[in-house]
Amino acid sequence: MANPVPKPAVQGTALITGASTGIGAVYANRLAHRGYDLILVARDLNRLDELAARLRADSGVQVETLKADLNDRSDLLKVEQRLRRDEAITMLVNNAGMSVSGPLIGGDADRLESMIGLNVQAVSRLAVAAATAFVARRRGTLINMASVLALAPELFNGVYSGTKAFVLNLSLALHQELKDSGVRVHAVLPGATRTEIWDRSGGSVDQLPKEMLMEVDEMVDAALAGLDSGELVTIPSLPDAGDYDAMTQARLTLGPNLSRNTAAARYK
Ligand code: NAP
Repeated sequence: MANPVPKPAVQGTALITGASTGIGAVYANRLAHRGYDLILVARDLNRLDELAARLRADSGVQVETLKADLNDRSDLLKVEQRLRRDEAITMLVNNAGMSVSGPLIGGDADRLESMIGLNVQAVSRLAVAAATAFVARRRGTLINMASVLALAPELFNGVYSGTKAFVLNLSLALHQELKDSGVRVHAVLPGATRTEIWDRSGGSVDQLPKEMLMEVDEMVDAALAGLDSGELVTIPSLPDAGDYDAMTQARLTLGPNLSRNTAAARYK
């Protein structure tokens, strides 16, 4: 008997960066079970292929792997082109990221530059490529992986938290631009989550108080529940979403006075 021809996924295809492990790998699992075909992107092709085989067997969706170092310009352009040209893509999980722990004084400037390349440059290029393509297709969802450190620069070094504040700002501004286009933006702000990022960054997850650390499955399930409920920003651990809304309201209150033709009286 001939092999059945796989049916195209109703949901379309989700392209997930940083899918070889951690948060990206759990998104891959959950989205496969929601019926998305997948394009999994990272540098470690063996790990991507192993995950892809598991997901095909478990969920029956089509899974492709794409080896790319998003800090390498030609690899990054390859992923961008895929987002622009592949009409089946309806979701980007803009997740790949790295962290460098430790103080900035005496820090390794080259590693910090790589982090900015991955967390800011690659994230913004992929977001622009996806948003532009999704607007033309009149549908699509862009999920950007920020961090609670976007709101708490005092807790970690300012270059990592600055890259995540960038991701939050990018998401809020894109949401504004895409409001009536049928394209959704979702910014996820995880707190500390148990993944390899801690070892990779030179830190240790075991030094964190237990009550601050979330398991990765729980984090991603909460983020997807936030997406399903229509949130623009999801902070998985925040008990009262009203606290974030109050902060936003306070920020918007500043608005009319942030740019004026005269200096404030206290500066004169
Ligand atoms: P992780 O376990 O270290 O996974 C990072 C993923 O990104 C891996 O799949 C890695 O795969 C990929 N990656 C790293 N450098 C890359 C590059 N140059 N090109 C392409 N892919 C690359 O980290 P995670 O905790 O899942 O983090 C995912 C995202 O969540 C990041 O943006 C991180 O900043 C954010 N976040 C994490 C936490 C946390 O506590 N874990 C909290 C807040 C936010 P390869 O090595 O195979 O390339």
